[in-house]
Amino acid sequence: MSYEYDDQNIFAKILRGEIPNDTVMETEHTLAFRDISAQAPVHVLVIPKGPYVCYDHFALEASDAEIVDFTRVIGEVCKAEGVQEGGYRVISNAGRAGVQEVPHLHVHVLGGRNLGRMLAKG
Ligand code: 5GP
Repeated sequence: MSYEYDDQNIFAKILRGEIPNDTVMETEHTLAFRDISAQAPVHVLVIPKGPYVCYDHFALEASDAEIVDFTRVIGEVCKAEGVQEGGYRVISNAGRAGVQEVPHLHVHVLGGRNLGRMLAKG
């Protein structure tokens, strides 16, 4: 499949500095910032700076340097946000079935409370 990236999506605008964000950390290839509508005491979004639509797009086409950097930032966010001990959840929604709202790859890092079962039934 070929991936079509819409550079008008909200996270592309955040990356271009057109919309403000509450940055947690930033590296050469990756930005981590707080979700505007937090669903847990810790709710950080980690995004690659490159134009990747979803997780499989990134995993299949990003460079090794981007993948290493992105993965490392997720670990650093867990550490910085203090969720390693108490536990956390990393989620990436993709496409229609995954109910992805913003078409730029993002991983949600959630923690700071009991997050319940992974999926609601039905
Ligand atoms: P998705 O459903 O695509 O996995 O999640 C998109 C997430 O982006 C949602 O949790 C939503 O609250 C968050 N979000 C949408 N617009 C903005 C924004 O302008 N700023 C920030 N920080 N988060 C946003």
